[in-house]
Amino acid sequence: MRYRVKSGSFLRRVGFAAAALGATGAMAQEDVAGQQTVITAAHMLDVQSGKTIDYPAIFVGADGRITNIADARTVRWGEGVKHIDLGDRTLLPGLIDMHVHLDGPADIGGYRGLEFTDSFWGMTAVKNARDMLDAGFTTVRNVGSDNRNDIGLKQAIDAGYAVGPRIVPAGYALGATGGHCDSTFLPPSLEKADGKEEGIGDTPDELRYQVRRQRKYGAEVIKVCATGGVFSRNTEPGQLQVPENELRAIADEAHQWGLRVAAHAHGAAGIRTAIAAGIDTIEHASLVDDEGIRMAVTRKRPVWFGMDIYNTEYTQAEGAKNGVLEDNLRKDREIAQIQRDNFRKAHRAGVRMVFASDAGVMPHGDVGKQFRVMVEYGMTPMQAIQAATKNAAEALGREGDVGAIAVGRYADIVAVDGDPLANIRELESVDAVLKGGVLVKGE
Ligand SMILES: [Zn+2]
Repeated sequence: MRYRVKSGSFLRRVGFAAAALGATGAMAQEDVAGQQTVITAAHMLDVQSGKTIDYPAIFVGADGRITNIADARTVRWGEGVKHIDLGDRTLLPGLIDMHVHLDGPADIGGYRGLEFTDSFWGMTAVKNARDMLDAGFTTVRNVGSDNRNDIGLKQAIDAGYAVGPRIVPAGYALGATGGHCDSTFLPPSLEKADGKEEGIGDTPDELRYQVRRQRKYGAEVIKVCATGGVFSRNTEPGQLQVPENELRAIADEAHQWGLRVAAHAHGAAGIRTAIAAGIDTIEHASLVDDEGIRMAVTRKRPVWFGMDIYNTEYTQAEGAKNGVLEDNLRKDREIAQIQRDNFRKAHRAGVRMVFASDAGVMPHGDVGKQFRVMVEYGMTPMQAIQAATKNAAEALGREGDVGAIAVGRYADIVAVDGDPLANIRELESVDAVLKGGVLVKGE
């Protein structure tokens, strides 16, 4: 379906009529002078108050940020303002995925990766980024990327060479030799001649250096693999791989530079250790125990959980066909249901939750399917939406920019046909997407 984008409109005429009849709340034309775009629709979710607002008129300045939100039934604007009318749809803030791998095509698993040259992965990221934007995700945190593909893509998008979400890149993920974020699929004869893979460190000092190095070349968040994982070889999800003093060195160093740290942690010991060390977001959190939940809730420095509770459905259905090894499928099977049950438990206990899909493990365009599972496992639709907007923006430290339709923030907006609070699956196929007040899908 296409949308009308034009400077005159039905709603504006209604606005003039209402003003002529003396309706209150009408805005003098000069008040909106200099504004570039106005976006209208039947409803808007205010994720900060949890309320639905009818007939919003969202004004956007030349810098792509929201300058004013008024009542579309009474406000008026000048001829020079571009009007994007999204009709009887419901608007919500552009969605935020806190755990993606844009340079990881979901359909290439295991040793099939060796069929491709090194620059292939960055090329796939261009399409994956577009798919995520079309799925309504206007901001993504890319937690680990070889070759700094995430940083290069972010620069290309910001400079207009590609179309995609706002990217918060990590560069290379940090971790232990032989750990989940090391290269674990090759024999020693194929190791890098100069020793360690980038990101890998085995002492606090080596890992501090890796934090500094990632930041130096563009990382805006630091990722560390604190435990084993599902898709590496010879690691187990429950296994702690980076001790507390090394995690603390990473957290302290990152915080000194103003960066936050995301720790991949499946196992209960790894989760507790990461929280104790000052890590900001716990990725996966699959096997968390009661003490880990208690620590996450009571810690003075806020801790968020990003639990990827949809992708097992894709992995179990398509993984073998994509080349994923049986041992990796086995690990996924072993933790999938426990992770979903622990999602319910952590949410119920009051842990701050963010939306995190691990896209790359699953197709980037399908990440909206996770909302259904989040609701199935205990969230209200509004809470699931807040996890992908308000909470995620807080966990990024970007509340001034993204995560709500509010004055001062970017006009990153998604429109859906139905009522997402009545049917969360509306978010599996969004109808229109705006980034910075510009329609990027739906016209
Ligand atoms: Zn991941």
